[in-house]
Amino acid sequence: MTHVVACLDGLDPEYLDAVETPGWDRIADRGNAGTCDGLVPSLTNVNNVGIVTASFPAENGVTGNTYYDPERDEQAYMNDPSLLRCRTELQRRADRGETVAALVAKDKLVGMVGQDCDLAASAEDPPDWLADAVGDPPGIYSGGASAWLMDAAVHVLDERDPDVLYVSTTDVIPHKHGPDEAAAEEWVRELDAGVAALAERSDALVATADHGMNYKSVCVDLEAALDREQLDAEVVRLITDEHTYHHQNLGGAAYVYLEDGSADALAPLADIDGVAEVLPAEEAAERFRLPTDAIGDALVLGTESSVFGPVEEGVRGSVELRSHGSHHERRVPYVASTGTTLDYNVEAFRGLE
Ligand SMILES: [Zn+2]
Repeated sequence: MTHVVACLDGLDPEYLDAVETPGWDRIADRGNAGTCDGLVPSLTNVNNVGIVTASFPAENGVTGNTYYDPERDEQAYMNDPSLLRCRTELQRRADRGETVAALVAKDKLVGMVGQDCDLAASAEDPPDWLADAVGDPPGIYSGGASAWLMDAAVHVLDERDPDVLYVSTTDVIPHKHGPDEAAAEEWVRELDAGVAALAERSDALVATADHGMNYKSVCVDLEAALDREQLDAEVVRLITDEHTYHHQNLGGAAYVYLEDGSADALAPLADIDGVAEVLPAEEAAERFRLPTDAIGDALVLGTESSVFGPVEEGVRGSVELRSHGSHHERRVPYVASTGTTLDYNVEAFRGLE
């Protein structure tokens, strides 16, 4: 038995629709394909962990690329496996005696995703035997990193024959290029060829994405907006991680921790052009299945064209980038050789059965 789940980072349905994808279509013909919901905040860590744990953040505890620890009054990257509140599907399968492998783009994900795997590696820092076989990875900020990961996944299936393989790529290309640009088309064709090669070597395959991608032209400075309302608060911009090249730490989701008072005080933020919603923690937790104890007083979501970050003056500024994080980037494509229908990307592992 060989089971494969692929998470194609940042593969917004628009990118898939812009190119002929014979590999994807072949799998869909005998299986099923469509779109499903990813998790909100629509971020890489949140959705990769959701997929490998087959759970929502309320259960797995992973709420962003960054989190705030009120006790230490500190923001930190959400990379430490100790922050995971449940076991991964890969661990559960290893417990059953299956051999499990995980390949991810960035080293930051190996800790959480690769726990107890027989083989866990990143394109950022691959082991010599993998680099010798597949070639040196082209660098995680290069357009070729996703294709390298798909090649590495094929090599692992051929040479190591694991019972289950999880492979996750990188979203550098959709951050930098729109769906109709040549670099994006090439990226999708390479992913499609990779998915087809994995499907040929597996008994069951589900491929999906972590989040979509939108063009952003507006930046809202939530700290400045809170200052204007004379509110003392910690703003946790959830896309923030150590890899700033492609998204500049500008995304469409933030948690707000108020020094005192209730989330009602945050209502004026919703009037700012570029703020789509200000959801009190309980409401956000219910709607997006988030853990109430780890999202502050409110979740603030951007519009289809806005992100949160510093601006030079005032509360609103202009930006030009492609990014994600809000509920506007939660729709993702999937294909399943088993014919299953997914409502959420976190059902990918269940979709193998
Ligand atoms: Zn991503």
